[in-house]
Amino acid sequence: MPRDYYEVLGVDKSADADAIKKAYRSLAKKYHPDVSTEPKEVAEAKFKEISEAYEVLSDPEKRSLYDQYGFEGVNQQFGQGGFTWDNFTHADDISDIFGDLFGDLFGGGRRSRGGGRSSASQGESLRYDLEITLKEVLEGKKANIDVPHTVLCEPCRGTGGKDGNVSVCGKCGGSGQVQSVSRTPFGNMMSVRECPECRGTGKSSAEKCPHCRGTGRVSKESHISINIPKGAEDGMRLRVSGEGNAGYNGGSPGDLYVVIHVKQDRNFERDGNNLWTGIVTTYPKLVLGGEETVETLEGEKAVLTIPPGTQVGSVLRISGKGLPRVNSSIRGDLLVRVTIEVPKKVSDEERELLRKIDETAGSKKTAGKKRKSTLREKLDDIIN
Ligand SMILES: [Zn+2]
Ligand SMILES: [Zn+2]
Repeated sequence: MPRDYYEVLGVDKSADADAIKKAYRSLAKKYHPDVSTEPKEVAEAKFKEISEAYEVLSDPEKRSLYDQYGFEGVNQQFGQGGFTWDNFTHADDISDIFGDLFGDLFGGGRRSRGGGRSSASQGESLRYDLEITLKEVLEGKKANIDVPHTVLCEPCRGTGGKDGNVSVCGKCGGSGQVQSVSRTPFGNMMSVRECPECRGTGKSSAEKCPHCRGTGRVSKESHISINIPKGAEDGMRLRVSGEGNAGYNGGSPGDLYVVIHVKQDRNFERDGNNLWTGIVTTYPKLVLGGEETVETLEGEKAVLTIPPGTQVGSVLRISGKGLPRVNSSIRGDLLVRVTIEVPKKVSDEERELLRKIDETAGSKKTAGKKRKSTLREKLDDIIN
């Protein structure tokens, strides 16, 4: 059992976002494996623990799942199929913190280390829209998708040179930048620009790789399989790390974001974790009470008990037959709106019975009125 996330970060259960961020930052600085004074394995394990705790507690949605269900509520997000579900804002937040962290440690942002474009930069992140059915929301789904993206060219190992043969660019000496001096009335001005020879990569090749025409990247359609969690919501983004476009100059690839779209269903309408459906019953069942069979989303027959005196349009509830919460086995309810169908034609026997009912109902009304008037008469008698 992992340690409680609040305990890991050393914050109170009621800590606000700022306090959590602060605690994470100071611990991350202490235990980052590159700088920690602890033995490597200890630092790595600590850093992983801190990062996991922060990933959950910094995200209001995950934090509330964790508060309600503990590790059960969030643990499926780690280490399963290589993805975590996430959203863009949160990803930005994390990189912000790392930007700050590395800035503090190395005296400059991570991206600016090395300078210029000859330093590694991450490939572009991509978006893939995936439609799923309501039933797949209920059961979860392993989806196989084909994603067009760029990957490193294998024959040249991403270098762009034939058979991977590259040398340091002679023009810029490998920095990817060239300096030029121009004279101005205020003196000589020096400017730095991208090396035109190697286009900022710092490398040159006598012969270009024929597979990628020297770019080091090729287009490819990759077959990717991802796990859609039970209870997935419309608009939810699943991050598949490293399946975006290939990085530049040895940089890591971007991520793939799979955006979930839930199709409308003919029989059920989603309302958070609850589902709406409807049934048609009979007038006698509404009056006297009874049972009806309702088909659930999973295709099972559930028994709906209609209490006596149920009104047309009432909503009855079959508990636990709605949708699950994300990463939880707790399900919402199935809400059933009850209506009746008024027959356009009736048999002679039915007509006779309905007349009798109507007459009885009519005499009840009259009887009620009569009783009232007699009561009034009695009261009058007493008063006078
Ligand atoms: Zn160059
Ligand atoms: Zn190539």
